[in-house]
Amino acid sequence: MRVDVLTLFPEMFTAVTDMSILRRAHEKGQLEVLLTDIRDFACDKHRVVDDYPFGGGAGMVLKPEPIVAAVESVLERARADGFKDSRVILMSPQGTVLTQAGAVALSNTPHLVLICGHYEGIDHRVTQLVVHQEISVGDYVLTGGELPAMIVIDCVARLLPGVLGCPESLADESFTAETVLEYPQYTRPREFRGLRVPEVLLSGNHGEINRWRRGHSLRRTLEKRPELLRRELSKYDRECLALAKEDTSDFKSLRKEGF
Ligand code: SAM
Repeated sequence: MRVDVLTLFPEMFTAVTDMSILRRAHEKGQLEVLLTDIRDFACDKHRVVDDYPFGGGAGMVLKPEPIVAAVESVLERARADGFKDSRVILMSPQGTVLTQAGAVALSNTPHLVLICGHYEGIDHRVTQLVVHQEISVGDYVLTGGELPAMIVIDCVARLLPGVLGCPESLADESFTAETVLEYPQYTRPREFRGLRVPEVLLSGNHGEINRWRRGHSLRRTLEKRPELLRRELSKYDRECLALAKEDTSDFKSLRKEGF
């Protein structure tokens, strides 16, 4: 997959190109992140990319010419490199809020172009002319589209074939397959500050482990995001949930209060 990012701050993206799983995906060619500095497409020698809003008001607005020229340039390069299907996305607090299902849909598009706004946003004609979709990362306003673009890249990239060393880890995750949250996860040590890993997870009994996990997934979902559980629970689910509700291993440490 190729992701072209149009931004005024390309240096911010080392967070996704130079670290951990995404760096390896980059190196293995599973994910290509190409950064374009919008300023390189400015029309004047001072490389000005913003201007005052018509009609007055606070802040500056990104001019349309550099962004549209940058989009056209990356689309042309992608076509020359054999990409037929491209999707141009504006990072915007006014867009559709990103969900796991949305990330899955994006992961099936071979070429994404992410436009990062800044200041008061971008001239509306960019959206009219070249944007297919607007994506928000939540109902709050950030200073720029860079962090939202990195969120999109991260959650889409880990869905690409071969990017995660252990693809099974995708199957049980929160919001995947059905809308329940993932069960609690533990690793070594078996005991930490008086809190023990639940015995069942050490038992090697996979039937019991699945039952425990299912029950705790449902319990967590009911406690944290009840609106996600919209359908009637099966008999198996009700049994798992009843067991999870009786389980005291998930109590919060009293010491936490001292933090
Ligand atoms: N004046 C704009 C408005 O009220 O809709 C907000 C502009 S914001 C300060 C600057 C840029 O940050 C936006 O153009 C967008 O690219 C990005 N941005 C801010 N919050 C975002 C969010 N929640 N999701 C996605 N992008 C966001």
